[in-house]
Amino acid sequence: MKLILIGSPGVGKGTYASRLQAIYHIPNISTGDLFRTEAKQNTPLGKQAKKYMVAGDIVPDDITIEMLKKRIKLPDAKKGFMLDGFPRTIPQAEALNKITKIDAAINYVADDKVIIGRLSGRRTCRKCGSIYHIKNIPTKKEGICDKCGGEIYQRDDDKPAAIKERLKVYHEKTKPVLAFYKKEGILHEVDANIDANDPKFHVIEDTQKILNKIK
Ligand code: AMP
Repeated sequence: MKLILIGSPGVGKGTYASRLQAIYHIPNISTGDLFRTEAKQNTPLGKQAKKYMVAGDIVPDDITIEMLKKRIKLPDAKKGFMLDGFPRTIPQAEALNKITKIDAAINYVADDKVIIGRLSGRRTCRKCGSIYHIKNIPTKKEGICDKCGGEIYQRDDDKPAAIKERLKVYHEKTKPVLAFYKKEGILHEVDANIDANDPKFHVIEDTQKILNKIK
Protein backbone atom coordinates (compact mmCIF):
# COMPACT_ATOMS: atom_id res chain seq x y z
CA MET A 1 0.00 0.00 0.00
CA LYS A 2 1.37 3.37 -1.01
CA LEU A 3 -0.19 6.30 0.77
CA ILE A 4 0.19 10.03 0.91
CA LEU A 5 -0.76 11.88 4.06
CA ILE A 6 -1.68 15.48 3.31
CA GLY A 7 -2.59 18.31 5.64
CA SER A 8 -1.50 21.63 6.97
CA PRO A 9 1.64 21.74 9.13
CA GLY A 10 0.56 20.84 12.65
CA VAL A 11 -2.59 18.98 11.65
CA GLY A 12 -1.09 15.89 13.32
CA LYS A 13 0.23 13.97 10.30
CA GLY A 14 3.35 12.82 12.18
CA THR A 15 1.28 11.43 15.06
CA TYR A 16 -1.22 9.72 12.75
CA ALA A 17 1.60 8.30 10.61
CA SER A 18 3.29 6.64 13.58
CA ARG A 19 -0.02 5.08 14.68
CA LEU A 20 -0.76 3.87 11.14
CA GLN A 21 2.77 2.49 10.88
CA ALA A 22 2.12 0.30 13.92
CA ILE A 23 -1.02 -1.08 12.23
CA TYR A 24 0.12 -1.52 8.62
CA HIS A 25 3.87 -2.13 9.10
CA ILE A 26 4.96 0.11 6.27
CA PRO A 27 7.61 2.81 6.73
CA ASN A 28 6.59 6.37 7.30
CA ILE A 29 8.74 8.60 5.15
CA SER A 30 8.75 12.21 6.27
CA THR A 31 10.69 14.59 4.03
CA GLY A 32 10.78 17.04 6.96
CA ASP A 33 12.52 14.37 9.11
CA LEU A 34 14.91 13.52 6.27
CA PHE A 35 15.84 17.20 5.93
CA ARG A 36 16.24 17.59 9.71
CA THR A 37 18.58 14.57 9.83
CA GLU A 38 20.66 15.99 6.97
CA ALA A 39 20.76 19.39 8.68
CA LYS A 40 21.82 17.84 12.01
CA GLN A 41 24.63 15.99 10.25
CA ASN A 42 25.63 19.20 8.48
CA THR A 43 25.75 17.53 5.05
CA PRO A 44 25.79 19.80 1.95
CA LEU A 45 22.10 18.91 1.38
CA GLY A 46 21.32 19.64 5.04
CA LYS A 47 23.04 23.02 4.92
CA GLN A 48 21.11 23.97 1.80
CA ALA A 49 17.75 22.80 3.20
CA LYS A 50 18.26 24.55 6.54
CA LYS A 51 18.23 27.99 4.93
CA TYR A 52 14.66 27.44 3.75
CA MET A 53 13.45 25.52 6.79
CA VAL A 54 14.35 28.16 9.38
CA ALA A 55 12.55 30.78 7.29
CA GLY A 56 9.43 28.59 7.21
CA ASP A 57 9.74 28.30 3.43
CA ILE A 58 9.76 25.09 1.43
CA VAL A 59 12.94 23.57 0.01
CA PRO A 60 13.25 23.77 -3.82
CA ASP A 61 11.60 20.93 -5.77
CA ASP A 62 14.71 19.50 -7.46
CA ILE A 63 16.53 18.96 -4.14
CA THR A 64 13.43 17.49 -2.48
CA ILE A 65 12.51 15.14 -5.34
CA GLU A 66 16.06 13.73 -5.57
CA MET A 67 16.13 13.03 -1.84
CA LEU A 68 12.71 11.33 -1.91
CA LYS A 69 13.59 9.18 -4.94
CA LYS A 70 16.64 7.83 -3.11
CA ARG A 71 14.62 7.08 0.03
CA ILE A 72 11.81 5.13 -1.65
CA LYS A 73 14.35 2.94 -3.46
CA LEU A 74 15.51 1.49 -0.12
CA PRO A 75 14.41 -2.14 0.52
CA ASP A 76 12.04 -1.34 3.41
CA ALA A 77 9.85 0.73 1.05
CA LYS A 78 9.35 -2.11 -1.47
CA LYS A 79 6.09 -3.39 0.08
CA GLY A 80 4.68 0.10 0.49
CA PHE A 81 5.09 3.36 2.38
CA MET A 82 3.38 6.40 3.77
CA LEU A 83 4.60 9.81 2.70
CA ASP A 84 4.30 12.54 5.29
CA GLY A 85 5.00 16.03 3.96
CA PHE A 86 5.53 15.02 0.33
CA PRO A 87 4.40 16.07 -2.25
CA ARG A 88 3.91 19.71 -1.31
CA THR A 89 3.84 21.13 -4.86
CA ILE A 90 2.50 20.09 -8.27
CA PRO A 91 5.99 19.40 -9.74
CA GLN A 92 6.63 17.08 -6.77
CA ALA A 93 3.27 15.28 -7.33
CA GLU A 94 4.01 14.89 -11.04
CA ALA A 95 7.50 13.55 -10.34
CA LEU A 96 6.08 11.02 -7.86
CA ASN A 97 3.45 9.86 -10.36
CA LYS A 98 6.24 9.04 -12.79
CA ILE A 99 8.09 6.92 -10.23
CA THR A 100 5.23 4.86 -8.76
CA LYS A 101 1.46 4.37 -8.44
CA ILE A 102 -0.12 5.84 -5.32
CA ASP A 103 -3.18 4.05 -3.84
CA ALA A 104 -4.65 6.84 -1.72
CA ALA A 105 -4.05 10.42 -0.68
CA ILE A 106 -5.56 11.15 2.73
CA ASN A 107 -6.22 14.81 3.49
CA TYR A 108 -6.40 15.59 7.22
CA VAL A 109 -8.40 18.75 7.79
CA ALA A 110 -8.57 21.03 10.84
CA ASP A 111 -9.37 24.72 11.38
CA ASP A 112 -6.42 27.17 11.35
CA LYS A 113 -7.17 28.08 15.02
CA VAL A 114 -6.76 24.43 16.02
CA ILE A 115 -3.58 24.14 13.94
CA ILE A 116 -1.92 27.21 15.51
CA GLY A 117 -2.64 25.83 19.01
CA ARG A 118 -1.13 22.48 18.08
CA LEU A 119 1.99 23.91 16.43
CA SER A 120 2.86 26.48 19.09
CA GLY A 121 2.52 23.83 21.82
CA ARG A 122 4.38 21.12 19.91
CA ARG A 123 7.65 19.84 21.30
CA THR A 124 10.02 17.37 19.64
CA CYS A 125 12.67 15.00 20.95
CA ARG A 126 16.10 16.01 19.72
CA LYS A 127 17.28 12.39 19.76
CA CYS A 128 14.45 10.18 18.44
CA GLY A 129 12.07 12.74 16.88
CA SER A 130 9.06 11.74 19.05
CA ILE A 131 6.38 14.41 19.11
CA TYR A 132 4.70 15.84 22.23
CA HIS A 133 2.41 18.76 23.03
CA ILE A 134 2.71 20.87 26.19
CA LYS A 135 -1.03 20.47 26.90
CA ASN A 136 -2.32 17.53 24.85
CA ILE A 137 0.58 15.06 24.95
CA PRO A 138 2.96 16.18 27.74
CA THR A 139 6.09 14.20 28.61
CA LYS A 140 6.04 12.46 32.00
CA LYS A 141 9.15 14.42 33.08
CA GLU A 142 9.40 17.99 31.87
CA GLY A 143 11.88 18.45 29.03
CA ILE A 144 12.75 14.71 28.78
CA CYS A 145 11.49 12.26 26.15
CA ASP A 146 9.39 9.38 27.58
CA LYS A 147 10.69 6.99 24.93
CA CYS A 148 14.47 7.57 24.83
CA GLY A 149 15.34 10.09 27.56
CA GLY A 150 16.43 12.63 24.92
CA GLU A 151 16.10 16.38 25.28
CA ILE A 152 12.76 17.93 24.30
CA TYR A 153 12.90 21.16 22.32
CA GLN A 154 10.76 23.52 20.27
CA ARG A 155 11.57 23.43 16.56
CA ASP A 156 12.53 26.85 15.19
CA ASP A 157 9.77 26.53 12.61
CA ASP A 158 7.19 25.92 15.38
CA LYS A 159 7.78 29.44 16.71
CA PRO A 160 5.05 32.05 16.02
CA ALA A 161 6.65 33.98 13.12
CA ALA A 162 7.51 30.80 11.23
CA ILE A 163 4.06 29.26 11.91
CA LYS A 164 2.31 32.14 10.14
CA GLU A 165 4.69 31.85 7.18
CA ARG A 166 4.29 28.05 7.00
CA LEU A 167 0.47 28.32 6.94
CA LYS A 168 0.66 30.96 4.22
CA VAL A 169 3.02 28.85 2.15
CA TYR A 170 0.82 25.80 2.73
CA HIS A 171 -2.32 27.57 1.55
CA GLU A 172 -0.58 28.98 -1.52
CA LYS A 173 1.47 26.05 -2.70
CA THR A 174 0.00 22.82 -1.32
CA LYS A 175 -3.70 23.23 -1.96
CA PRO A 176 -3.25 22.63 -5.71
CA VAL A 177 -1.85 19.21 -4.75
CA LEU A 178 -5.30 18.36 -3.36
CA ALA A 179 -6.89 19.27 -6.68
CA PHE A 180 -4.29 17.07 -8.40
CA TYR A 181 -5.21 13.96 -6.38
CA LYS A 182 -8.92 14.73 -6.61
CA LYS A 183 -8.56 14.61 -10.38
CA GLU A 184 -6.68 11.32 -10.03
CA GLY A 185 -9.71 10.02 -8.07
CA ILE A 186 -7.71 8.94 -5.00
CA LEU A 187 -8.29 11.86 -2.62
CA HIS A 188 -10.06 11.16 0.71
CA GLU A 189 -10.78 13.60 3.53
CA VAL A 190 -10.56 12.95 7.29
CA ASP A 191 -11.73 15.43 9.95
CA ALA A 192 -8.79 16.06 12.29
CA ASN A 193 -10.22 18.77 14.57
CA ILE A 194 -10.41 16.48 17.61
CA ASP A 195 -7.15 16.18 19.61
CA ALA A 196 -5.44 12.80 19.91
CA ASN A 197 -5.95 12.73 23.70
CA ASP A 198 -9.72 13.36 23.45
CA PRO A 199 -11.88 10.23 24.02
CA LYS A 200 -13.86 11.24 20.92
CA PHE A 201 -10.71 11.06 18.75
CA HIS A 202 -11.54 9.02 15.64
CA VAL A 203 -8.91 9.99 13.06
CA ILE A 204 -7.19 6.59 12.93
CA GLU A 205 -10.48 4.64 12.71
CA ASP A 206 -11.67 6.95 9.93
CA THR A 207 -8.42 6.39 8.03
CA GLN A 208 -8.68 2.62 8.47
CA LYS A 209 -12.23 2.64 7.08
CA ILE A 210 -10.95 4.35 3.92
CA LEU A 211 -8.00 2.00 3.56
CA ASN A 212 -10.15 -1.11 4.12
CA LYS A 213 -12.23 -0.09 1.13
CA ILE A 214 -9.28 0.30 -1.22
CA LYS A 215 -7.24 -2.74 -0.09
P1 AMP B 1 7.63 19.19 8.07
O1 AMP B 1 8.29 18.46 9.19
O2 AMP B 1 6.95 18.28 7.08
O3 AMP B 1 6.72 20.31 8.52
O4 AMP B 1 8.81 19.88 7.22
C1 AMP B 1 9.67 20.82 7.81
C2 AMP B 1 10.31 21.67 6.74
O5 AMP B 1 11.06 20.85 5.82
C3 AMP B 1 9.32 22.42 5.86
O6 AMP B 1 8.87 23.63 6.44
C4 AMP B 1 10.14 22.63 4.59
O7 AMP B 1 11.08 23.67 4.77
C5 AMP B 1 10.93 21.32 4.50
N1 AMP B 1 10.17 20.31 3.70
C6 AMP B 1 9.66 19.12 4.14
N2 AMP B 1 9.04 18.46 3.14
C7 AMP B 1 9.17 19.22 2.03
C8 AMP B 1 8.73 19.09 0.67
N3 AMP B 1 8.01 18.03 0.25
N4 AMP B 1 9.05 20.08 -0.19
C9 AMP B 1 9.78 21.14 0.19
N5 AMP B 1 10.19 21.34 1.46
C10 AMP B 1 9.91 20.40 2.38
